[in-house]
Amino acid sequence: MRASSEGAAPVRAADGPSPELNEVIDRVGLVDHHAHSVVSGTVDRDAYAFMLDESDRPASARAAGLDTQVAFAVRRWCAPLLGLAPDASLDEFLRARLALSARDAVARFLPSARLDRLLVETGYRGDELMATPQLERLAETPVSTVARLETIAESVATEAPAARDFADAVRRSIEAALAAGAVGLKSIVAYRAGLDVDPRRPSDAEVERAAAAWLATLGPGSRPRLVDPVLLRFLLWAAVDTGRPLQVHTGFGDPDLHLRRSDPLLLTDFIRLAEGRGPILLLHTYPFHREAGYLAQMFEHVYVDVGLAVNYTGAQSPHVIAESLELAPFRRILFSSDAWGLPELHLIGSLLFRRGLSRVLGQWVVDGDWPLADAERVVRMIAAENARRVYGLSDEPDEGRGAVEPDRPAPDES
Ligand SMILES: [Zn+2]
Repeated sequence: MRASSEGAAPVRAADGPSPELNEVIDRVGLVDHHAHSVVSGTVDRDAYAFMLDESDRPASARAAGLDTQVAFAVRRWCAPLLGLAPDASLDEFLRARLALSARDAVARFLPSARLDRLLVETGYRGDELMATPQLERLAETPVSTVARLETIAESVATEAPAARDFADAVRRSIEAALAAGAVGLKSIVAYRAGLDVDPRRPSDAEVERAAAAWLATLGPGSRPRLVDPVLLRFLLWAAVDTGRPLQVHTGFGDPDLHLRRSDPLLLTDFIRLAEGRGPILLLHTYPFHREAGYLAQMFEHVYVDVGLAVNYTGAQSPHVIAESLELAPFRRILFSSDAWGLPELHLIGSLLFRRGLSRVLGQWVVDGDWPLADAERVVRMIAAENARRVYGLSDEPDEGRGAVEPDRPAPDES
């Protein structure tokens, strides 16, 4: 398998005012630190519209009629890869696109994302998606996995353990997932209880009581869904105890979520209590990306991205990217797409991110605010180096593995 950064000529997405920086941004290989796999079968027009929409209401996606930022971006960037003009009509585009099988769509779109590595979170409807080895082969990109904590706990629950054994069984499953190669863990506490859960580590007795109550509701063959706030907190702490990267969904997502309760500032006390353990990656964060940037500046173990929002704000995404570059130290910003289901979402995640970075950083270069060399360095950090360092990714032998290098001594209480 080739590393994508050494492959064919890139799709030129960077169009910022500095030609030198555009060249670097178009060529750099990205590490997408949070995405999902793609659907296996073919899709029809309604299913396609539904997958280009974060609403969980098919009727809402159908009524939106692909007149959205994300759908416009998909047409703009994917049409040329289907042999069409970038301004092809929606009907022309859909005729060409929906004729592709899932395999063909991945092979057509994903190599042009020029990812050096893709971290795939396997917990969300993973059984409907293409298996990782096939995705890796068709995408021509190395794939690593991230394990979802709630899915691990739900799987343990189906084995009907005694309540007093539940915590240890979950800890063992987390360790097994990491030993099997997962490079990080992911929490969806924002969806299940909100980020305003009690930040403290629950006691063993609290966990046992909560586990007993939950397990008692499960019959044979039932599909457990973990919503108990004590057990969700237990998972957060079990994850930080491993010292491995913990991804926490924050901000925008489908309407399972109460957006107000997904503001990452609600995690401030948890972040303080978990200081000195592993890195906490605040995923996506929009429209709280400025709040997330504040947290990243205050706490050396906090990292942020604006994935998902870049895709969903489309042509407006340079503004979101610019705002994400306000307070967060550059070594604590990562790239992600949060693509799910359709490979065009991985592709536009990469291309829109390159385009936005080129316009924002390029302007600072031509205005004389940033030296070109520093802009190039920051591009490399955000594109891949930060993710390689945080996740200890093994394709860079000169980078430390697993351990997180602190930026500076821990701050005092002031
Ligand atoms: Zn995700």
